[in-house]
Amino acid sequence: MHTGAERGPEHDPPTIRSPIMLEPITAHCPYCGEAFDTSVDCSAGTQRYVEDCQVCCQPIEFIVEVNMDGSLAGVSFLRDDD
Ligand SMILES: [Zn+2]
Repeated sequence: MHTGAERGPEHDPPTIRSPIMLEPITAHCPYCGEAFDTSVDCSAGTQRYVEDCQVCCQPIEFIVEVNMDGSLAGVSFLRDDD
């Protein structure tokens, strides 16, 4: 009787979660007109959110547009007090 030792490598590939892709951008404040460096998360897709200006602390509405391939298409900076 001969039993061959069979060892099948069973390595489950690690579950790859979409990494956070922070894209550095220069924001332009619609209130005070100053520019400041920040970053947007392209892995979250097209989005809009409010982030305070780093200069005058007013709430800027960021509208982030992301391409199908995950690259940054553009960012708009709007006043949040219309
Ligand atoms: Zn400002």
